[in-house]
Amino acid sequence: MNLETIYERMGISREVYAYGQKIEKALKERFAAIDETAEYNQLKVLQAMQECRVSDIHFAGTSGYGYNDLGRDTLEAVYAKAFHAEAALVRPQITCGTHALAVALGANLRPGDELLAVSGKPYDTLEEVIGIRPSSGSLAEYGITYRQVDLMPDDRFDLEGIRRAINEHTKMVHIQRSKGYQTRRTLSVADIKEAIAYVKSIAPHVICMVDNCYGEFVERVEPTDVGADLCVGSLIKNPGGGLAPTGGYIVGKEALVEQCACRLTSPGLGKEVGASMGIMQSFYQGFFLAPTVTAGALKGAVFAANIYEPLGFDVLPDGQESRHDIIQAVTFGTPEGVIAFCRGIQAAAPVDSFVEPEPWDMPGYDSPVIMAAGAFVQGSSIELSADGPMKPPYSVYFQGGLTWEHAKFGILMSLQKLTAAGIAVLPKEEQTEQ
Ligand SMILES: *Cc1c(COP(=O)(O)O)cnc(C)c1O
Repeated sequence: MNLETIYERMGISREVYAYGQKIEKALKERFAAIDETAEYNQLKVLQAMQECRVSDIHFAGTSGYGYNDLGRDTLEAVYAKAFHAEAALVRPQITCGTHALAVALGANLRPGDELLAVSGKPYDTLEEVIGIRPSSGSLAEYGITYRQVDLMPDDRFDLEGIRRAINEHTKMVHIQRSKGYQTRRTLSVADIKEAIAYVKSIAPHVICMVDNCYGEFVERVEPTDVGADLCVGSLIKNPGGGLAPTGGYIVGKEALVEQCACRLTSPGLGKEVGASMGIMQSFYQGFFLAPTVTAGALKGAVFAANIYEPLGFDVLPDGQESRHDIIQAVTFGTPEGVIAFCRGIQAAAPVDSFVEPEPWDMPGYDSPVIMAAGAFVQGSSIELSADGPMKPPYSVYFQGGLTWEHAKFGILMSLQKLTAAGIAVLPKEEQTEQ
């Protein structure tokens, strides 16, 4: 049976398939460049594992206190090497990306200190961590103040604004690489380098922390290569490679990471405790796969942009732009568009493909949100997933795909649903093609 027939049996019409093939063909060079980055990063991770002499004894778990957990300590050495950082904290006890960021902030700020965000408002869930929205246990409750400098209208750093905002209380600068649910450009590592160099030229002692969520392995360099003192992310995004079932990481300067360990566990205990309970193999193996998994997701994002842009939908980033994270936004302009897209992604999933997502009132959001996630790991967004708030401009945020082949199928299925609903119309050539 040929591929086209299999696609057809799985619900993709010959017209949608033909359109997808044409778009994919035109992306050959783009995909080759993504593969080269994956190759580079694969070697980087492999070298770190070899230099740390990773061995199967590291996959055995500890229980209880987790004293002398060789697997855990060696994995942290692997992360530190791969990120070219002094130290790392990589733990299943870090529950998610927000928790990792909260640990990094809470560990290194003291009453009277000020946190300065220089890439605009941080990711939604950090609002309550910082106390931008009042919340129990926020930094604000501990007397830590907050200031924010927005990016310029062209998404460049507002260096003048940063200079004016830094004062004798500024202890830490927050930079967010990915755009989150905003419509700004994602920052490149080169952009981040410029901001850090500028901050350090004014206030060399200020700690520069980067929220690296969704950015890992998209480029050949990471924020820790360009002066970041701390770099933080989630293991159910890029660096977990789809295999890590939970967890987060913090890499950076040894003294700062040590503070994070004392915050995560307890003063006096730091990195010495934290049982790994048999989870280590998935962390190692996931990190090993992360460069190629990220490449697959990245191809999916580029493919989606190039599928929807010619059909007249706004896409961010656009089809040609260079990429610094794995997120793709597509604006449909109607609730029906967002719903059809998400139903397509869900219908393409390996898990729960038979359920139909509906918009619902999620805690913490000001409008109903629809989410498509047929994932092996709950909420994992390195797996093929999409979500969109039910409000203008009716955009959907799409990311992940453990393999390029699956990302492709998901995007074709989304297009199938949109054409069936009459929301997307294929170019004439495809409509008449046999
Ligand atoms: C995902 C994400 C986070 C943290 O989210 P969790 O859902 O808590 O893992 C923080 N910042 C950015 C930019 C993110 O994309």
